Amino acid sequence: MSRLERRIVFSQMAPERDAQCTPDIFMLSGFGNTGVIITDEGVVIVDNTPMTSEKVIEAIRERTQAPIHSIIYTHGHGDHAFATAAFIEDAKQQGHPRPRVIGHDLVPKRFGRYERMARYNRYINAIQSGRSYMPPPEDAQFLPLNIVYPDITYSDAMQFRLGDLTFELYHYMGETDDGTWVWVPERKTAIVGDLMTGACPNVGNPFKVQRYTLEWAEGLEAVAGKNPEFLIPGHGRLLKGKEIQTICLDTAQFMRYIHDEVIRLLNEGCWIEEIIDRIKIPEELANKRWLAPVYGCPTYIIHGVHRRYAGWYNGNPSELFPSNSTDIAAEVAGICGVTALIQRAQTLQEAGNTQLALNVLDFAVKGAQDPTKRKAALQLKAELLDKRAETEVNTIAKNIFLVGAEQAEQEANSL
Ligand SMILES: [Zn+2]
Repeated sequence: MSRLERRIVFSQMAPERDAQCTPDIFMLSGFGNTGVIITDEGVVIVDNTPMTSEKVIEAIRERTQAPIHSIIYTHGHGDHAFATAAFIEDAKQQGHPRPRVIGHDLVPKRFGRYERMARYNRYINAIQSGRSYMPPPEDAQFLPLNIVYPDITYSDAMQFRLGDLTFELYHYMGETDDGTWVWVPERKTAIVGDLMTGACPNVGNPFKVQRYTLEWAEGLEAVAGKNPEFLIPGHGRLLKGKEIQTICLDTAQFMRYIHDEVIRLLNEGCWIEEIIDRIKIPEELANKRWLAPVYGCPTYIIHGVHRRYAGWYNGNPSELFPSNSTDIAAEVAGICGVTALIQRAQTLQEAGNTQLALNVLDFAVKGAQDPTKRKAALQLKAELLDKRAETEVNTIAKNIFLVGAEQAEQEANSL
């Protein structure tokens, strides 16, 4: 299988998980989930995903001809908020009033940032989510041209009624700063966006802006406090009954544990490397199915918490204003020889330590002056990254390794 085929394409990962909560509330799954609530006065939808807007419209029309009254964004990520235009177009065709769009105060700011960071976001998302990773063109767009900004925004909480139902919207910070979770008390149903994704929360994502571990835990505890009978997550299957408490509170406890450990170790005077080495997740949390490190993982979370509370200095004064890593590698390669470094990397790999092999090999990759030796180092790097990807369960890490392998091979072939 080629590297291209081995990458994990996020948008193709989501199995069909459509599910009914109550006769008037259902969940439609796509890359992200959409919550649909039908009332006598119109339909409320929570989130939309570009790839499933048609399916959502069809599913609503099979059940009711009532207009879509409100579209709520749980946050401003593409897999939750980028397909609203399709619903507005549908309303126009049906002769319905335009649905109103509701989101947290910070959603418009997020969209503004996406406009400024279009190329960067395209680039990192391509690496992360397994799509083509070529640098995007200068005029690349990230926000869809027909993006719909919220008509109504709120700060801490808002509430409205439609038909017989109440919609309570609560702000939380977690994967983003603009998070909303929705509570329909008459149906004991929570629609929570990426507050719950069915896996280890993606705090401390290697590419993304600051995320919020402690507030995320608090958000999950607030949801659990409502005793929901149904929970529609941002991704993954519908949760029902008792498991909701268990999964929300386990996930909150897991994040609080890592958060508190980072703080404790910072206060003990540890630097980031030691903090990563010393934090061990308790067995009873490490093995929970719903905390599988397939998207987020403990190391990312540690970085995320550390970044929130500490600066980037790593404790080694030599590395405050370091020499260029290529110059350092050239010195090391000059002393022990590129061939010796390559051989040592091979030995380490054969002994099962692919990671250390990669770190040693980088001195050869960066330090080799002779193109033939550099080519050999790059070829081995591609091979080692392929090996690393084989056993990696974290999808983001796996994609980073496979993209790195491809780039190393391309560079080797160009020499
Ligand atoms: Zn999402």
